[in-house]
Amino acid sequence: MIPLLRSFLASVVLFGAAAPAHAAAALAPCLAGLRANALKDGIGAATWDRYTAGLEADPSVLAAQDAQPEFVTPIWDYQAALVDAERIADGQRMLQEHAVPLRAIEARYGVDPATVVAVWGVESDYGRVTGKRPLLVSLATLSCAGRRQEYFRPELFAALKILQAGDVAVEAMRGSWAGAFGQTQFMPSTYLRLAVDFDGDGRRDLIDGTADALASTANYLARAGWRRGERWGMEVRLPERFDARRSGRQTKRTVAQWARLGLRRADGSALAAADLPAARDGSLLLPTGVAGPALLVWQNYDALFSYNASESYALSIALLSDRLRGLPGWQAPWPTDDPGLSRAERRELQTLLTRRGHAIGEIDGMVGKTTREAIAAEQRRLGWPIDSRAGQRLLRELRHATR
Ligand code: CA
Repeated sequence: MIPLLRSFLASVVLFGAAAPAHAAAALAPCLAGLRANALKDGIGAATWDRYTAGLEADPSVLAAQDAQPEFVTPIWDYQAALVDAERIADGQRMLQEHAVPLRAIEARYGVDPATVVAVWGVESDYGRVTGKRPLLVSLATLSCAGRRQEYFRPELFAALKILQAGDVAVEAMRGSWAGAFGQTQFMPSTYLRLAVDFDGDGRRDLIDGTADALASTANYLARAGWRRGERWGMEVRLPERFDARRSGRQTKRTVAQWARLGLRRADGSALAAADLPAARDGSLLLPTGVAGPALLVWQNYDALFSYNASESYALSIALLSDRLRGLPGWQAPWPTDDPGLSRAERRELQTLLTRRGHAIGEIDGMVGKTTREAIAAEQRRLGWPIDSRAGQRLLRELRHATR
């Protein structure tokens, strides 16, 4: 649920360069200017005054926009960390622990437990990683600085409405710098639209209320067109010399049409109407062209895609949901001789880098700035091309060197 961010870069130059004192001073008049609109929008004067009084801009929110990775993460890196052995094992445990609400959620919304739990695992690591920034500070900062203030102001108002309704306490309302929060990482407007009080305690609580969070995820997918009993799609095998221009989410064909173009199941057997909703149109996804995994996807994939509008993201949920169903991972390897690292392997790499004298801080499996700098230093020492990427080849090299 992270909005597109490229257009923010200019605002970082304008605002991030200012001294914090100046930035703090800038917020009060801006908020005073928004007050009338907020009241017109249904926010009570007492709510507005209580929660906006003393809010100070946080220039690091704008700096965070600038911290977007400067290169596109390869899908094999993305998926290696998002669908690793830990997340699969944790997800299987969550399926057991929450079996009762998950069954009730499937009955009401038509979304199966493995899918709901897979979204939960990818969005917030099953509620463990939800963001630490005070939401009102982030949203007020983004409402008063930068180019997309018009996008963030309704989100600020939505956050205040959530507080006004008593669904969430202000101290608990923390999230990403862009304003996504809670176990589902909804933006506040999505929360208002789609959050549900599934446990019936009178509050829509997507922070501490796991049943509410799981049901709200299912509600989101149901509204996005999820079809009960259908799968997201499946891995397929391409014929020789397949024309990759036939792929893409927008190009839809029936199973019979895809079969005529030479597609087979991943095990080589014929595509069968029984595999998939035969009458419906599906698309072929080739994330790395004809050389990597080929995925035939149906409308339920589109529902997953709508959650975050990223192919790597939606395919990670799809793959994790299959693993949670006990299905094997995809058969075709990604076209790389240097695959990505699981989170356990990332922690191991960080440990090895620390032992070699790099100050990278907490061993947390997150490849941030200091870890990238340490990787670059090792790549320089080894005479390798320097791309600061954490991959299997460097991990093997450092295991060997540190033995
Ligand atoms: Ca509730």
